[in-house]
Amino acid sequence: MTLTTHAIVGAAAAKLFPQHYILAFFAGFISHFFIDAIPHWDYTLSSMKKDEQNPLNNDIVFGRSFILDLLDIGFDFFLALFLPLLIFSSNEISQSLIVLCGAVGGVSPDALQFVYFKFRREPLVSLQKFHQWIHADTKIESWKRGIPAQLAIAVFVIFISTKI
Ligand SMILES: [Zn+2]
Repeated sequence: MTLTTHAIVGAAAAKLFPQHYILAFFAGFISHFFIDAIPHWDYTLSSMKKDEQNPLNNDIVFGRSFILDLLDIGFDFFLALFLPLLIFSSNEISQSLIVLCGAVGGVSPDALQFVYFKFRREPLVSLQKFHQWIHADTKIESWKRGIPAQLAIAVFVIFISTKI
């Protein structure tokens, strides 16, 4: 899923703990795995080197294509911080911080995948195994269906969060 979708869902989950930054972060963190289990579309990272036999050997190769990937990731990350604040924050700074904790928690598992690619040590190895295990096997190939589907998930979660 895009970082943006993860961040919106993470920020919505953080609303469960409006007084507690660490719990808000972990609510976002855990929400990541729940929605990764739903079949979804992902934008391709051309710097990603995949091992179909053993996905634990996947890697990101630093090079020219990584720099291009960084543009996509950067744009996605910008939306991941900006949209949750736009949608959920109020005039209170503490509330905006809770939103940010949830959003950052929501995208962190993917950042940790990146760290795993470069430092294959525990507890990252176990986390990566879990992440790959829970991640949906079937995926939506086309962005034309994939983006509206993620938008629908985000809107649904925002709607539910207004009931909390
Ligand atoms: Zn993920």
